[in-house]
Amino acid sequence: MSVRVRIAPSPTGSLHVGNARSALFNWLFARHHGGTFILRLDDTDVERSEEHHVVQIQESFRWLGLDWDEGVGVGGPHGTYRQSDRLDRYAEVVDGFLARGIAYRDFRSPDELDELRRAAQAAGGPPRVPSGASGDPVADLARAEAGESFTVRFAVPAEGAVEFDDVVRGPMRFDLANEDDFVLVRSSGMPTYHLASTVDDVDYEITHVARGEDLLASTPKHILITRAMGAEPPTYAHMPLLFGPDGKKLSKRHGDTSVRAFMDAGYLPEAMFNFMCLLGWSYGEDREVFSKEEAVAAFDLDAVGKNTAVFDTTKLDWLNGEYIRALDGTDFVDRVRPMLGDLDPEQERRFEAIASLVQERTKKLPEAADQVGFLFVADDAIEFDEASWRKQMTKDFSRPALEGGLAVLGDLEPWTTEAIDGALRGNLETQGLNARKGLQPLRVALTGSAVSPPLFESMEVLGKDATVARLERALSMVEDPAGD
Ligand code: GLU
Repeated sequence: MSVRVRIAPSPTGSLHVGNARSALFNWLFARHHGGTFILRLDDTDVERSEEHHVVQIQESFRWLGLDWDEGVGVGGPHGTYRQSDRLDRYAEVVDGFLARGIAYRDFRSPDELDELRRAAQAAGGPPRVPSGASGDPVADLARAEAGESFTVRFAVPAEGAVEFDDVVRGPMRFDLANEDDFVLVRSSGMPTYHLASTVDDVDYEITHVARGEDLLASTPKHILITRAMGAEPPTYAHMPLLFGPDGKKLSKRHGDTSVRAFMDAGYLPEAMFNFMCLLGWSYGEDREVFSKEEAVAAFDLDAVGKNTAVFDTTKLDWLNGEYIRALDGTDFVDRVRPMLGDLDPEQERRFEAIASLVQERTKKLPEAADQVGFLFVADDAIEFDEASWRKQMTKDFSRPALEGGLAVLGDLEPWTTEAIDGALRGNLETQGLNARKGLQPLRVALTGSAVSPPLFESMEVLGKDATVARLERALSMVEDPAGD
């Protein structure tokens, strides 16, 4: 049997990391077993489904490196892979159920149903609403045709249980006495998620349904529908939900958790991929950094743990830094360059000369772009970060540091990192300043900020004239301290 798995997002918003993690695990499982990964759209919520979300969902998957073999955008033997194009098929299944008495039209109002539920609870029995089947489908059809509002419900057997072995959670059992006759078709005529999703899973011959644990309670319904269609249920794997580092379910309070937000923040897709693999699965051997190929070779659904997975962006930042450092130097330059705008040849030279030093120190690419910005600005146009200026340029050591630096750099030959290093360190001793007091003002003068690539190398790359011009300009702007 060849593995067929799917991810079925609803195009009602951005793709969130929870859904992306489900997609990733399905993808890894399919690739590990040489199976088929399918992208289907659960778009029966016509009012909220929008085409730009469809586009953005596909972009997010592509960015993460999750390619799909069948489905939206790539086609396959099952039509458009959009539920909104399959309404006739769902109606056909429901008509079959109605004809066999497996489903019925329910004309009761929501108020009536609430009343019945309360009564069932008050009686101390299972909170199940009694069946609303009239036992007279012909009369029901006449009422429907006369325009009365109704839903179609699945007639859940009064007794027995649905049992299945969940790959992640082990043996599961749901007593049917607790299950309501659930809705298959809403009063609007639209199919519910339970109906559409299950019919698709059957028709697309899905072998494994791996999805978030929040859908566990839906599974007995899906199994009942599947069996009623004369099919064998797929294997289910309900994966742990994502939590924030504060122990609360991942939600808006944890910031924007759309894949798009991580894309826009400049994370490397490889790092995001690696990070998301760790949300419920572990590579083993205590390894946290591994390639896509290694993950495919090692992954299996039965190794997914039951414990909640913590979505910790500190870890993502760390991993991203690891991936940035592991990039080939030209690859790093190529990824940062688009963030820098147009560079003239001299600016390009400066950037390439300093790139490897920045690469060692950045956790995110946009940070790297920020850090090299000083290389592209005219010497008299450096803008000073306010906090850095206050901390380094308004103190009693500020002026002596700049003057001392200028004194030893003005005639320095040759203009190399090593020579600059020697000259400035020698001066620290002469002036009796430590590196923090003696060099930080120079860094601010040169780059505008107290955080920058290494100082001596930056001076070498800028050249003597630019270095001296920047130190002189800053010196002319330093005001004597009011006392500290
Ligand atoms: N559209 C559903 C969701 O995104 C699909 C759930 C499922 O995998 O069955 O939650």
